Amino acid sequence: MKVIIIGGVAGGASCAARLRRLNEEAKITIYERTGYISYANCGLPYYIGDVIKDKNNLTLQTPQSFNKRFNIDVKVKHEVIKIDTVNKQVLVKDLLSGNTFYDTYGKLVLSCGAKAKLPPFYKESSNVFTVRTVEDTYKIKAFIDAKKPLRATIIGGGYIGVEMAENLHNLGIRVSLVQSNKQLLKIIDSDLVSFVHSEIRSKGIKLYLGKKVSNVVVDDVITTHLQDGCEIESDMIIYAIGVTPDSKLAQDANLELGVNNSVKVNSHMLTSNPDIYAVGDMVEVKHFITKEDVLISLAGPANKQGRVTADNICGIPSEFKYSLGSSIIKVFDLDVAKTGLTEKECIDKGYNYESVILTPASHATYYPNARVLTLKVVYNKENKEILGAQAVGYDGVDKRIDVLATAIKCKMKATDLKDLDLAYAPPYSSAKDPVNMAGFIIDNIENNIVKQFSYEETKTLRTKDVILLDTRTEFEYKRGHAEGFINIPLDDLRSRLDELDKSKSVYVMCQSGLRSYLATRILTQYGFNSYNFIGGYRLYSSINNEEKLIKESYTCGMDRSK
Ligand code: FAD
Repeated sequence: MKVIIIGGVAGGASCAARLRRLNEEAKITIYERTGYISYANCGLPYYIGDVIKDKNNLTLQTPQSFNKRFNIDVKVKHEVIKIDTVNKQVLVKDLLSGNTFYDTYGKLVLSCGAKAKLPPFYKESSNVFTVRTVEDTYKIKAFIDAKKPLRATIIGGGYIGVEMAENLHNLGIRVSLVQSNKQLLKIIDSDLVSFVHSEIRSKGIKLYLGKKVSNVVVDDVITTHLQDGCEIESDMIIYAIGVTPDSKLAQDANLELGVNNSVKVNSHMLTSNPDIYAVGDMVEVKHFITKEDVLISLAGPANKQGRVTADNICGIPSEFKYSLGSSIIKVFDLDVAKTGLTEKECIDKGYNYESVILTPASHATYYPNARVLTLKVVYNKENKEILGAQAVGYDGVDKRIDVLATAIKCKMKATDLKDLDLAYAPPYSSAKDPVNMAGFIIDNIENNIVKQFSYEETKTLRTKDVILLDTRTEFEYKRGHAEGFINIPLDDLRSRLDELDKSKSVYVMCQSGLRSYLATRILTQYGFNSYNFIGGYRLYSSINNEEKLIKESYTCGMDRSK
């Protein structure tokens, strides 16, 4: 058996290693365009930021070590420039010598990844960068070491833009982050992202949200022109506006294409050609919830698809059926994670859904260093299946999202989250884990024990003939409260019920959503129609502040500060 793999990183290297584990006799060759294989793309921003100090740690394997361990022929700085499907051969260019040659295959695996998107005004220059390969990373690092830039502009506020903002900031560079959308990290909803924005702003990074770049003029000083007339000057610029499947070879070979020119594959990762498999960022996958074809450019799926491909080449009919898009990012001290659909996606796709937001402690509050985390779970109102979850916080975010991703995969009902038997000791969780708590809240909603209202609803409620009630202490209320809300502390509520008009609905808020829930239970049992604010004043004020800041940022002028 002779297998050629194009691309030697996440999907390609994983496929090659599994192939060897399954078949000691196979002749396996990897062609890789860059000078490195099996490198840690995900670690590249952290090398730039000096978090990963030893560059050798980025390259998990060298061509020599990979060959020694797996007996795989690794050709770096070799680009495959054509696939000849009739004669089952690839045309390869040795990028050092410029020579080209043909190599034949029995099975071909494409793991070409994705390319960084570039705007029409992109101009190559020594101070203009993208972050995709080890070479890109070394270029940025060398520029920073040599030129000591004071200011950087990053265009694009997805994972890579945000990670780069943090890492450049940590080097003492003043960062401006421009995002055409009104929010960073579209993988989570606009309510939870308010915490991310404030974490980033608190570090002194300037956010330009909802701003489109109209032009970038590159010189020693780079001027970024925004459509609203705003100008930002900087010494370097990084484009992180997303990726697009690197499918040129596949297109030229007439393989069937899918979403956004990705390669169409079946669940065995086989393309429309019976001898060619494709994996990773260049293929479309089926979304676990929607069953739609989507692009999910993440390392987990690429690695698993590489393994599935090797299995199939060796006669094991493994499948990669669906992707949930589970992902996580560190934003300074904050962790942000999601799995499945966001609330916005549920709205866009017309789901009949319900969402709950809770702000529990990451572990028992009497044990040191417990931190509040914000957890949001969205579920299908009809069949109660969990549609997605997001979490933002300083501790315990990853495990909650991983538990919820597993629950979704097992098609668990949202109401069953309360029954999950999760590990507990004070340093790790509470006897009722935040995931259990989400289940309790959902169970209460489904059994009509509690009704809730959201931030958006607060805007219209102020104009209605209802009671807006804040049940925090007088001290907390005086420090800040939502417009129009009156204060009756929870512990005084029973004795002050006569101050409330029973003919009006009562909308209750507290700091986290717990005391207001207790208040709604008192009110309901005394004959009031009451609603609990999901997420509490902590969430309310975060979203409210963010809305104000975004409005203000619309009036920016020229930023020429050194
Ligand atoms: P890649 O790993 O990109 O490998 C493709 C390789 O193919 C490239 O090295 C390319 O040079 C080579 N190639 C392409 N065409 C040819 C050709 N014609 N001939 C020879 N070689 C060719 N994902 C996460 O899940 N978590 C993270 O934290 C995360 N962080 C990231 C940070 C950065 C900076 C980047 C760039 C990506 C990050 N990702 C992360 C995404 C993740 O790295 C990718 O989803 C994953 O690497 C995709 O695997 P792949 O095999 O499809 O492509």
